Amino acid sequence: MAESNANELMEKLVSLCKRRGFIFPSSEIYGGINGFWDYGPLGVELKRHIKNAWWEDMVLRRDDVVGIDSSIIMNPKVWEASGHLVSFNDPLVDCRGCKARFRADKVFTVVCFVQQEALFSTGVEADNEEQAILGAVEKANSKTRRFLVKARDPKLQPKWEVFRADKLPKGSEALCPLCGQGLTDARKFNMMFKTFVGAMEDSSSAAYLRPETAQGIFCNFRNVLDTTRLKIPFGIAQIGKSFRNEINPRNYTFRSREFEQIEIEFFCHPTEADKWYEYWRDQRFQWYVGLGLRSDRLRLRDHQEEELAHYCKACADVEYAFPFGIAELEGIANRTDFDLTQHQKSSGRDMTYFDDESKERYIPYVIEPSGGVDRAALAFLCEAYCEDTAPDEHGNPQPRTVMKLHPRLAPIKAAVFPLVKKDGMPEVALKIHQALRAAGLASFYDEKGAVGRRYRRQDEAGTPFCFTVDGQTLQDQSVTVRDRDSLVQVRIAANQVVEYVQQRIR
Ligand code: ATP
Repeated sequence: MAESNANELMEKLVSLCKRRGFIFPSSEIYGGINGFWDYGPLGVELKRHIKNAWWEDMVLRRDDVVGIDSSIIMNPKVWEASGHLVSFNDPLVDCRGCKARFRADKVFTVVCFVQQEALFSTGVEADNEEQAILGAVEKANSKTRRFLVKARDPKLQPKWEVFRADKLPKGSEALCPLCGQGLTDARKFNMMFKTFVGAMEDSSSAAYLRPETAQGIFCNFRNVLDTTRLKIPFGIAQIGKSFRNEINPRNYTFRSREFEQIEIEFFCHPTEADKWYEYWRDQRFQWYVGLGLRSDRLRLRDHQEEELAHYCKACADVEYAFPFGIAELEGIANRTDFDLTQHQKSSGRDMTYFDDESKERYIPYVIEPSGGVDRAALAFLCEAYCEDTAPDEHGNPQPRTVMKLHPRLAPIKAAVFPLVKKDGMPEVALKIHQALRAAGLASFYDEKGAVGRRYRRQDEAGTPFCFTVDGQTLQDQSVTVRDRDSLVQVRIAANQVVEYVQQRIR
């Protein structure tokens, strides 16, 4: 996707999300707050459906996974044991000139050479080197006319040197992406939000908002084991808010400071960990495909040896090609017995599992699929956004914007319209609308304006099915159903509407 098209697409999506009530900036009436977002009436339903789909597929439809809901603030010793207090850091750099702050591993200095001569150098904020070069070209296009002229000449192939602000070669300086002045050396910045519990604000009352839901699961491993009849292998799942004081929240909701996670810790015998890792890696990838993410925009990227945390034996990311670049939706990791061992050491509590059959006692290995609801929602929104044409009441094609969300995720499942506001049509339509609601299906009743306009409003909200009551309904009790994506209209019996929707949103 060309850079400008991608930017334009993001702008259109952000504007639709605001206009239709998917996503608003947090505390907007006070100018917002960087890194925090609110979900409006449509957005909250989308998010709820993502969470429900995950819970249904990962917990309710399985015998080997149970759920918990642990507190956001935990005993601070948890974060000592997990290593977060010491090492949950991002490298931070400041601009000496404009004082802007950046995550050092996301700021690149790009130098462009043409025939050994440094033509220009610039700072760019990006996720990887490839993106950084694209960003540099974009900047150069507007600033360096001379570069453009030279680069058009095929003999003068530009060469790129790219380095991250926290991995500077000797003697070079990192440049600010905003003002071009020099950046400071990188220093560590702990991303946990700190607060105080109780009336005293001193070190003895310091506590943290959890940066991941996983530790609440590890701390409850014994409780779950002792209160259920689960035997290894089994998993514990949790959905909940997490908080990270990200240095530079960006790309809309992608990197926020408050977000919701969907995490499973799946406990297994150490010798079976590789097998279960493969299983969850595939399972989680397919889950996104099943909910409508096109597999050519999704990929599973295995981490290189040097990328792995010291306690991880293997890790893979489910990545999605967002308009702003390819980025992580979820990580699946083999975390070995690291977390349970740490908690056993720090708390003195027994975290071993005893196998009745083999009489073996051991600390289980854990496979962790860890995703984010907000990132999933953003990927589903990006995937759904579509501009095409649909015929108006006179059959003339008109441009429309349509959110082709998977029916299972669509905030509103069905809309019901009387063709006109008379002849008993509203009464019949209202009855269908109420039947849908009684069946737990979000339905929207609309009798205002031209029917074409009503369809279009539902297209933007991602409503998969619109039912229209017309003159024929009054004679044969049939209604038309219009499919959002194919635009095909068929007639079905009015008393079949609920079943029709139920079957199609599975
Ligand atoms: P990144 O490298 O993008 O910061 P991470 O590897 O630190 O992510 P994890 O610690 O593996 O992320 O967190 C698991 C999941 O939680 C991520 O895959 C993502 O979906 C979600 N997540 C993490 N940080 C954020 C954030 N700042 N905003 C939104 N979602 C997040």
